Amino acid sequence: MKVIKTVAELRAEISSAKQQNKTIGLVPTMGALHEGHLSLIHKAKEQNDLVVVSVFVNPIQFNNKEDLEKYPRKVEDDCALLESNGADVAFVPSVEEMYPEPVNDVYDFGPVAEVMEGPQRPGHFNGVAIVVRRLFDLVEPNRAYFGEKDFQQIAIIRRLLEIMRSETCHPNIEMYRNLELVPCPIVRAEDGLALSSRNARLSKEARNVAPNIYATLQQAVEMSECEDVEDVKQWVTDTLESFHEVNDIPEELRFEPEYFEIVDDTTLQPIAKWEDAKGVVGCITVWLTGVRLIDMIRFR
Ligand code: AMP
Repeated sequence: MKVIKTVAELRAEISSAKQQNKTIGLVPTMGALHEGHLSLIHKAKEQNDLVVVSVFVNPIQFNNKEDLEKYPRKVEDDCALLESNGADVAFVPSVEEMYPEPVNDVYDFGPVAEVMEGPQRPGHFNGVAIVVRRLFDLVEPNRAYFGEKDFQQIAIIRRLLEIMRSETCHPNIEMYRNLELVPCPIVRAEDGLALSSRNARLSKEARNVAPNIYATLQQAVEMSECEDVEDVKQWVTDTLESFHEVNDIPEELRFEPEYFEIVDDTTLQPIAKWEDAKGVVGCITVWLTGVRLIDMIRFR
């Protein structure tokens, strides 16, 4: 595996792969890699000749300075994991290498960005789109892999592709036309907690209560057989908010739900009745001891 830190080296590697007609799979990450990331890499390996994994904590997608500062960084461990999991290239650029000049692009994602993470994290998706577009332009992948844990992010990248395909006067238009977005299922710990780099910031006690987020979502799916959407929504929020009281858990380990929405899995717009969409998912963000945890579950 090659560890590449500069854009110039990456371009050379990509152009040599293209000359050999190799297909390229891209897995964008922010590092502190776990089995969730590895599942994307394994999928990419199955489907492509060359797998490029980027490890870059993208400052412009953080709307909270403390979250950026506390984001776990362990590049050496990450590279060892990438090597043993068959990645061909680890791209680990510095911020200066990634953004030699400030990028001020503003994307109009429309309704998919107006719900859930959108209003809660102003500028977040724009920052995601800027880095993903930069990676697409540099790596020119045939396929790009994203986890359903960040369910709304996939809808945003799909919109970014639509935008790039409609702007016909840039050099990479053919690449954007052919680029396939590959969504990958959530990987969970045995106790159900969605794997996340941020889980490393949970104390032992917080880590022990955290699986109740998913357990609550699973019960919500059962409830959805006979209860209506609004009641299920309310029940999830109430159950998590009162969890510490009901279960005699110290108050500092309380769940603080930021939002829980039951949405159409394509438009991401909240639904009023189960029949309102063919595919229905529930997306949640919960704070626990100052750590922001996100999860999702499929209802229909
Ligand atoms: P991150 O490093 O958190 O930006 O994540 C990089 C990619 O890995 C994103 O596409 C995430 O959705 C995906 N990912 C993170 N955690 C998981 C997980 N538990 N299961 C599946 N994919 C994941």
